[in-house]
Amino acid sequence: MAEETVSSIPAPRILPWHASAIDQARTAWSASRFPHAILLQGAEGLGKRQLASWLVAAVLCETSGAGPLQFCGKCASCQLIAAGSHPDRYWIDPEEDKQQISVDQIREMTGRLTQTSYRHGYKVAIVEPAHQMTISAANSLLKTLEEPTPRSVLILVTSRPSGLPATVRSRCQKMVVHGPSSTEAIEWLRQESGAEADPQLLEFTGNAPLRALELAQEGRFDALNEGMQKSLGQLLAGRSDVTQLAAEWDTKDAKPQLPYRLTWLDLWLTSVARAAIGGSADLFTFPARSPHLPSLPAALNISALYAVVDQVRALKSQLTRTALQRELAIESLLHSVLQVLGPAPAARR
Ligand SMILES: [Zn+2]
Repeated sequence: MAEETVSSIPAPRILPWHASAIDQARTAWSASRFPHAILLQGAEGLGKRQLASWLVAAVLCETSGAGPLQFCGKCASCQLIAAGSHPDRYWIDPEEDKQQISVDQIREMTGRLTQTSYRHGYKVAIVEPAHQMTISAANSLLKTLEEPTPRSVLILVTSRPSGLPATVRSRCQKMVVHGPSSTEAIEWLRQESGAEADPQLLEFTGNAPLRALELAQEGRFDALNEGMQKSLGQLLAGRSDVTQLAAEWDTKDAKPQLPYRLTWLDLWLTSVARAAIGGSADLFTFPARSPHLPSLPAALNISALYAVVDQVRALKSQLTRTALQRELAIESLLHSVLQVLGPAPAARR
């Protein structure tokens, strides 16, 4: 069986900020020392999957054999890639409804890499996100990494290299995707969406253009921004309580938004702290327009404020906890927000 089972393989694509990674790959290719295993790493939202897809297509492209590494888009191999049916490309990602990549998936893939190529060229496998391999899946890769079959390439794609065993990392050639500058990102977003990019949205995504593009669609970011301002405004004005709000944020439908809410809170609280320390409202940059938020107390306890920021970040890294633990943690976080930024206790009575 050689058909690919993954339906969501991205089309090969190079984005402007992939240039240094592409240079690295082309230099190695021209010198006939293309790595047999690549750890392609970089933050979320930078198009690493598209880049991995391009690298695979280029390694398999018939014109790359005798010349520079490229994806011609015209040869039989490139056409098979475009049709999603290249028999020498193996794309491994978590099976439907699963969070992890299993040892069976990896074993099947490594088995295929040791066989003869269907098209008498390279065989390439991609594992993404590589940090979602189980420990035994990662361990079962070691032999392939140490004794690679000639003309086989393995690409591990990850935004969290620390989530991979050191033994796997050290046996791969590292290829790092760096994000664009904010000017480049804003320019790229303008070209892609045909609209002016919101600098706030880029700040929100940590300058990750693909994520920004996704959140700009259908006004998703605007809705989140307004929703957060409204719910915090109501909380701080005493018109809703922490238990109610925590429950709202953790319903089945709302839960996927939780990481975004926490990122929003992180940026907002940091912005409040920056403005309070600098004594200037100009330093308050996020959200840029805050019609729904009440004005904050004149004197703020800065260290308590930063303790809340720490609480937000801790919660962000623990979102996989049980529903009850999560809801309690959100409640406790909102309590802290209220304590630090709400009206003074005397006024609350
Ligand atoms: Zn080609």
